[in-house]
Amino acid sequence: MSSSDDELTGEEYLFKVVVIGDSAVGKSNLLSRYARNEFSPHSKATIGVEFQTQSMEIDGKEVKAQIWDTAGQERFRAVTSAYYRGAVGALVVYDITRRTTFDSVNRWLDELKTHSDSTVAKILVGNKWDLEHIRAISPEEGKSIAESEGLFFIETSALDSTNVQEAFELVIREIYNNVR
Ligand code: GDP
Ligand code: MG
Repeated sequence: MSSSDDELTGEEYLFKVVVIGDSAVGKSNLLSRYARNEFSPHSKATIGVEFQTQSMEIDGKEVKAQIWDTAGQERFRAVTSAYYRGAVGALVVYDITRRTTFDSVNRWLDELKTHSDSTVAKILVGNKWDLEHIRAISPEEGKSIAESEGLFFIETSALDSTNVQEAFELVIREIYNNVR
C-alpha cells in the first residue's frame, strides 16, 4: 500500500441523521434493528439513548452516521429544534397499516424544512411491511408523495429486517454524495 493510500484510509466522515414520524410507527425499532440487530415487541416510552453511531464503508472510507431517535416527544408534538440541529439526513417514517401516520408525513416534512438545511438527504419509509395483509397505504401512494417531495422511498420491516439496512444506507450514501 502506498503512503497516499494510507492517508486515504485515515479519512473519516461523521453525519447526523434524524428519524422522525408519528408515535409508534417503528422509529426506535428501525434504529435498534440497524445498529444492534435488535427488535422489541413492546414499545418503550423512553429508552434513554439520544443517538446511536453506526459505521459503513463507502469508496474505501469509513463513514459514520450518528442516528438520532426521539425519546417519544413526538407524542406531544414537541420535538425540539436541538433534535434537528446539524442534521444532514432524515428518515421520515409512517406505518403502512395506519393512514393517520401517512397523513402526517407532510407535517413532518414541513417541520424538517423549518429546522434544517434544504440539502438534507431524505427518505420516506413505509414501515411494518410484514403486516402487508392489513396495509392501508399502497406502495404506489408512498412512491407518489416521495416523488413529488423529492425523497427516496422504501418499505421496511423492523420486525423481520426487510430493507432496514438499505433504508439507512441509501440516506448515508446520498449525504456522502452531497458533501464529497
Ligand atoms: P416509535 O414510537 O416510532 O419509536 O415506534 P416503536 O419502535 O416503539 O414501535 C411501536 C410498536 O410497533 C412496537 O410495539 C413495535 O414492536 C412495533 N413495530 C415496530 N416496527 C415494526 C414492524 O416492522 N412490524 C411490526 N409488525 N411491528 C413493528
Ligand atoms: Mg420511539
